[in-house]
Amino acid sequence: MPTIIDGKKTSQDIKNEIAARVAEIKTEEGKVPHLAAILVGNDGASQTYVGAKVKACHEIGFESTLVRMEDTVSEEELLAKVEEINENPDIDGLIVQLPLPKHISVEKVTDKIKPEKDVDGFTPANVGRMALNWPAYVAATPYGIVELLKRYQIETSGKHCVVIGRSHIVGSPMSILMARNGYPGNATVTLTHSRTQNLKEIAQTADILIVALGKPEFVTADMVKPGAVVIDVGIHRVEDSSKKSGFRLIGDVKFDEVAEKASAITPVPGGVGPMTIASLLYNTLLAAERKVYG
Ligand code: NAP
Repeated sequence: MPTIIDGKKTSQDIKNEIAARVAEIKTEEGKVPHLAAILVGNDGASQTYVGAKVKACHEIGFESTLVRMEDTVSEEELLAKVEEINENPDIDGLIVQLPLPKHISVEKVTDKIKPEKDVDGFTPANVGRMALNWPAYVAATPYGIVELLKRYQIETSGKHCVVIGRSHIVGSPMSILMARNGYPGNATVTLTHSRTQNLKEIAQTADILIVALGKPEFVTADMVKPGAVVIDVGIHRVEDSSKKSGFRLIGDVKFDEVAEKASAITPVPGGVGPMTIASLLYNTLLAAERKVYG
């Protein structure tokens, strides 16, 4: 049986550690970390994600502010709101929930966020700092994966790491982090995408396979080297009449058959997913303690 990398338990451990630190900060400074989230419009998934983030803040003792704006809001008004929060000394971290309505430029809004408060790690300043291996807010999903590798003491040095998918929020930063000089890192990285030829043969040579392409159960056992560590980032809802909810969640990896070959694997649900909120909270703690920008 492979090691099942338990993201649910690990994220709870991290939240407990942050909560303990928050209690100390409160005593020392009389103030707790404060995260602001801007939510534009009424998209159901976005409301759920933001709601979960706000709830997690309360659970661990952070202050939070949720700013809701109509989906008819102008780009100018949204930029002005970002600027207002940038300048508010009571707020340590700011996230703008994506996606935004089509008439608003994600690039302009992201670029407006003060890098010191960019706890999603999406601004060019933080992506650049991460690439330079400087202190940075690393985006939540890649940061969550790094933390899982660390806490499960997965050896990465000298290993061949194949990343499937090159999105700005997952695959691309993951490839940079795995190649950097440090731990986890020092891997030889192959970053693959939809134009990659012979993906199956490349995947078969991976000691560590990080899968983030957004295709349900794409990675099958014949693509995996025996003993590989498999990290599944994908999340998909599929209908399942045997479940009360009428659906179940699956990943980009065909879990049952790949688990038989892997030495360690993240399940879906309960693997990478739960780590993302813990990462955001951790970045907000770093922001409150001025640990990244000094
Ligand atoms: P994305 O922006 O859609 O990017 C998908 C990437 O996969 C692209 O680089 C694409 O290549 C590549 N790709 C698509 N088909 C491919 C194929 N047949 N072979 C090789 N590469 C292929 O996706 P994302 O935002 O990174 O998300 C990926 C998955 O992770 C989704 O299921 C998403 O829901 C999930 N996700 C989960 C979490 C979490 O917290 N667990 C967080 C974020 C995302 P091109 O660049 O050539 O188009």
